[in-house]
Formats: sequence, structure tokens, C-alpha cells
Amino acid sequence: MVAKPKKKEDREIPKTLQEPKGMHDVLPVDEGYWSRIEGAARELADAYGFRRIDTPILEFAEVFRKTEGEASDVFAKEMYTLKTRGGDLLALRPEHTPPVMRAYLGHSLGRLGQPQKLFSMGPVFRHDNPQFGRYRQFTQFDFDVIGGSNDPIYDAQVILLFLRLFAMLKVKGVVLKLNSIGCRVCQPLYRRQLVAYYRNHEKKLCQNCIRRAKTNPLRLLDCKEPGCAELREHAPNMLDKLCATCSTHFKGVLEYMDELKVSYVLENTLVRGLDYYSRTVFEIFTEGEGKEAGALAGGGRYDYLAEFLGGHATPGVGCAASIERIIPVMKAQGVVPPSKARTAVFVAHAGDLAKRRSFRFVEELRRAGIHIKEALAKESLKAQLKSADREEAHLALIFGQKEIYEGTVIVRDLKSGLQETVSLDRIVEEIKKRLR
Ligand code: AMP
Repeated sequence: MVAKPKKKEDREIPKTLQEPKGMHDVLPVDEGYWSRIEGAARELADAYGFRRIDTPILEFAEVFRKTEGEASDVFAKEMYTLKTRGGDLLALRPEHTPPVMRAYLGHSLGRLGQPQKLFSMGPVFRHDNPQFGRYRQFTQFDFDVIGGSNDPIYDAQVILLFLRLFAMLKVKGVVLKLNSIGCRVCQPLYRRQLVAYYRNHEKKLCQNCIRRAKTNPLRLLDCKEPGCAELREHAPNMLDKLCATCSTHFKGVLEYMDELKVSYVLENTLVRGLDYYSRTVFEIFTEGEGKEAGALAGGGRYDYLAEFLGGHATPGVGCAASIERIIPVMKAQGVVPPSKARTAVFVAHAGDLAKRRSFRFVEELRRAGIHIKEALAKESLKAQLKSADREEAHLALIFGQKEIYEGTVIVRDLKSGLQETVSLDRIVEEIKKRLR
């Protein structure tokens, strides 16, 4: 379930009954949202030719140190690590991309044809500050295109896939923000210019940015502190400094966007903060209700990631979003997931013998493909029918002593109250007819 601000009475719940801070139980009340989002992601994976890959929840911490960078927030501040009894330093994965690339290289998946389109979904962990749409354990799904050439057509396709996802989920006010952060050739020059610019204004920088200027200068651009934000206005623009190859690549991405009439905002301060990104970076936001949750999805190109892991140069581009980030936005926008078409047939009994017979009957109906609800442990018929009401069942099948001897069952329409006795030989057919 999506976390609510802790109420006073919640604080009195014993610790043994609480989730750890930033972690959350997914309760049946939210089942509709979860299956809608998971279903849409799987549907798009099929439609766009992505195949499922699942990596372990624990990885060597090195996998993230070498790829995200020691100075990145995710690695430096948010990683959950542990030492095994054997002395290995492992990390709970904070995202899917580096492990997916590790698996791609480790299993030589490129031999199966290139590029490989890979889809993963599962829990990730970050010791983040919990707030609206932000957790310490959350479920990310990730679409990655790895191998082959670094053609911008796949940058565009991954973006399109996510825009389609949000359209399918009926999320309104979706905005795509795009930038290019260059490559090994042009980015270092840009970084130097950026650092020089900020050095000249060091007095206005926050403490974090003074540190960032040394460790992770691109992150100077996404600081929210007022002094730093003001400086950003006049900071050098990466898009003006791209080398010819990066410039052509980025133009390619934009042309594919134009081809499909996708609107976008060029956001020259968007950098994404992880070492492995190069060239295209993007984030998808919503402008309407729920916008305070932050980016709904984010991704980019990572052509050097494979080399950081010790593999051969392998281009890649991908994007991730979390279910926990999308649900509060859907709720804030009043999007209700379609409820599962429940067949809502309830079997009830009156009397001991009928109870035993019902037990068998319920199994027979389930085997015939009919979804059955029951409260077989309840003795009184009244109590059972109350449960049927709570389940919003349409039909109740009621067994009494008499029906058992006659080989029949009472079929009651719970809306109209009308009922008739139907022979057990015809019952499956009769239920199917009524449910149609
Ligand atoms: P990132 O890997 O930080 O770019 O995040 C990609 C996507 O993961 C975001 O757009 C969110 O959908 C989701 N996400 C990131 N951090 C969290 C978090 N702490 N809680 C829930 N979802 C998150």
C-alpha cells in the first residue's frame, strides 16, 4: 500500500507489527493498481519485443561502485550493503541496469542477436528519505536495449514505450524532458567549463555543491538550493558544447520524436547523476495532480557501462519507473483501475451433510473453470449469505438436505432475490449462461 503520513495512533503500534521505515506492505485494497501497472508493462514488453530477465536481488557492491560512480548519491548515500560470512561485500540492488548489463556480458547474451531487448521487474532498495511516492524498497521495471549499434532510434523507441505506458494507465499531463550530456570527448571539456563558472561564484554555492564541484560537477546543475538554482540560469549549456558526433546523435533522437509528433521539453540541466550515462538522458513527469512525486520514469543511454564492468564496448539505452511512484499519481488524478472481472458465484450450505457435499461441489465447479467464493467454515446460512454480500457475489448456490437427496441446488440471484432449483447435471451450463 502507498504510505500515508504516520498518524499519532500509528506510533503506538508495537514495532513487531510495523514495516521498517520506507518499506511497505502491498495490501489487497491496491491489488487493482498493481495488476494494472504490471500488466501494462508486460503487455508493452511483448508488443515491443522485450524479453524478461531477472537478476539476483543481491549483487557484488562493486557492480554499482564501478558503474554508478563513488560520488553518486545512489552509491554514496543510499546503498544497503552487507558483508557475507565468506567476506564478500554485497549490495541490495538499488536499480536494475548495472545487474542487467552484468548478466548480458556474463552470459554473452549478445550472441543471441543484437541488440537484445531486455525487460526486468522487481524490488530495488535505496536508503532514501521516505516521502510521497518515495520509498526505501520499491518495485522498478526496466526496459533496456543492449548491443548492436548506438542508433538513436532505440533511444526514441524506449521513450515512446514509456509514453505509451502512461497513456495506457490514463495518467494525465505527461511531460517528456530531454537532454544530451555528451560523450568521453565533449563532456570532460564541458565539465571543466562548468567547474570554472561555479568557482567564480563559489560564495553563492551550498556546501553540497562545493563538494560536488570536485566529485560530480554535472550534479551542480540539478541542485534545488535557491543560490545554486539562480547560478544555474547562466551556467554554460551542454547542448552548445556537444561534439559533432553527439550533436548528430541527439538530433537523431529529436527527429524520431518529431516523426511521431511527440512533444518534449529540452532541459539542459537534466543530468541524472550517475557516471554510466552518456549522450541522451530523459525523464518523464506529470504536470497535474501528483506532480510532487517527482519523475515518473527516467533513463538514458549508457554506452560505457559495459566497459566499466570490465566487458567489451557495448552500447545500451534504457528507462525505468516504479510502481510505487505511479500509483499515488493515478490516485491523485482519480484514475481507478478496472476492477478484475470477478465471476462472483458463492456456494453456501445448510446443515452438516450439505457442508460436506458443498466441499466437493466447490472443487468440481473450480475444476470446470468457475471461480467460486465461499465461507464453508461458517455454520449458519445467514452468516454465509452475509459473506456473499460482502464479496458482491451475483449468484448464490445453496445446498440443503433436500437438495442433496434430489441431486439439485438452489440458484439464487442475489440482486433480484429470485431463485430456482437446478439439477446438478445442468449446473455448470446454467452458471455459465447466467454469467454471460
Ligand atoms: P532513477 O533510477 O532514480 O532515475 O529512478 C527511476 C524511476 O524509479 C523514477 O522515475 C521513479 O519512478 C522510481 N523511483 C526512484 N526512486 C524511487 C523511490 N525512492 N521510491 C519509489 N520510486 C522511485
